Amino acid sequence: MATNQQLIQKAASVIHSKNLKDGLIGDVGCALVSGKGKIYTGVCVGVNSNGYCAERVAIAKMITDGKEYVIKKIVATWKDKDGTLYVIPPCGFCRQAMKDTDEKNIDTTEIILDKNKSVKLRELLPYHDWWEKQK
Ligand SMILES: [Zn+2]
Repeated sequence: MATNQQLIQKAASVIHSKNLKDGLIGDVGCALVSGKGKIYTGVCVGVNSNGYCAERVAIAKMITDGKEYVIKKIVATWKDKDGTLYVIPPCGFCRQAMKDTDEKNIDTTEIILDKNKSVKLRELLPYHDWWEKQK
C-alpha cells in the first residue's frame, strides 16, 4: 500500500485552484486508497463545506468508477497562496459521509494527518452510534 508520504504527494498533485467570486475551488486535493487498493483522487468543488469537499469527490469517484465503498486510507491537502502545503482533517460532513458509505469504515479507514500520524475514523467520530432512547 502507498505510504502516507506518497498519498500526501498524490493529494497535493491534483490541487489546481480557480478563483471564484466568493472564494476558491480546487485548492484542496484528496487521495484515498480503496479496499481493493486502488487510489482515487478529488478536489474540492465549492467554497468551504458548502459544496463538495475533495474527500467526498474522491469517495464519489471510488463509488462511481470502482463500485467500491471501503476506504483504507484517506488524506486531504491544502496549499496556501505561497504554495505551502498542509495536511488537513476532514470536516464533519466528510467524516459522516465516510461512515455512511460503508459502516466498516468506522474501524478500517485510516485518516492521515501527517506523514507519521494517522487516526482511525472512529477517533474523529466518537459518538456516531449514540442513539440513546428516551423514556
Ligand atoms: Zn469535508
